[in-house]
Amino acid sequence: MRTVYVNGEYMPETQATVSIFDRGFLMADGVYEVTSVLDGKLIDFDGHAARLERSMIELDMPALPITMAELLEVHRELVRRNDLSDGMIYLQVTRGAPGDRDFVFPDPEETAPTMVLFTQSKPGLADSATGRNGIKVISIDDLRWGRRDIKTVQLLYPSMGKMMALAAGADDAWMVEDGHVTEGTSNNAYIVKDGRIITRQLSTDILHGITRAAVLRFAREAQMEVEERAFTIDEAKQADEAFITSASAFVTPVIDLDGTPIGTGQPGPVAPRLREIYLEEVRKAAI
Ligand code: PMP
Repeated sequence: MRTVYVNGEYMPETQATVSIFDRGFLMADGVYEVTSVLDGKLIDFDGHAARLERSMIELDMPALPITMAELLEVHRELVRRNDLSDGMIYLQVTRGAPGDRDFVFPDPEETAPTMVLFTQSKPGLADSATGRNGIKVISIDDLRWGRRDIKTVQLLYPSMGKMMALAAGADDAWMVEDGHVTEGTSNNAYIVKDGRIITRQLSTDILHGITRAAVLRFAREAQMEVEERAFTIDEAKQADEAFITSASAFVTPVIDLDGTPIGTGQPGPVAPRLREIYLEEVRKAAI
């Protein structure tokens, strides 16, 4: 049984509870982060902590009751208590439980945020079949709200997108708005054409992936050309390669889009190389 963290306390998962009045439950008024763990160490904790703070500020949530140094300790303690080698730490903060349902935000003096963290064990996370062989994606309309740069727990549409992909015999969906790909259901989307890595520019249209930032930095350091701009589904179908990035998928090749094989229909060479560089660098910097 897992040990989880709820509002300052560690407890068995079966004893962990949150109020029915919690605004995360009633209104999806909450934000989250997922930090990967490899060999018992946290990958890019600082990036996830910084984005958490930004998400909370953008939603006018009161500051966390603990410092980022203490939050790091909570992550580490959960790794220790759960003997976690490879997997993820899920963190969620909501605007708390005011004791009733109301559209008006509660007074932060009276209602403290709810914070929960738990571990997810994924042995061999960095050596997955999808990481090696790639995934198939379908395209769907992007029907999400307009502040996708805030990492909220409003994940119903991405979850439906994933189900549409599975129903179509694919692994995931790329979302399309105004004719251009925004991102995957839970990852950032890329194509490679003539050696150039193309991915949508940052804006409120997409989540500012922590893995995206690292991968683009490593790509530039390796003298690869990076173009941050929106691309279409047709362009993606004619690309040499495609891939996604996220904290738990790292860099994963995309080999098929709406039934059209991308490039040779096999991973490589750019995505597997980036995956290798990314894993090597983040393992070195893991804490
Ligand atoms: N876009 C969306 C919509 C996501 O949900 C995620 C993963 N949470 C990402 C991109 C990738 O972000 P990260 O690299 O920080 O995991």
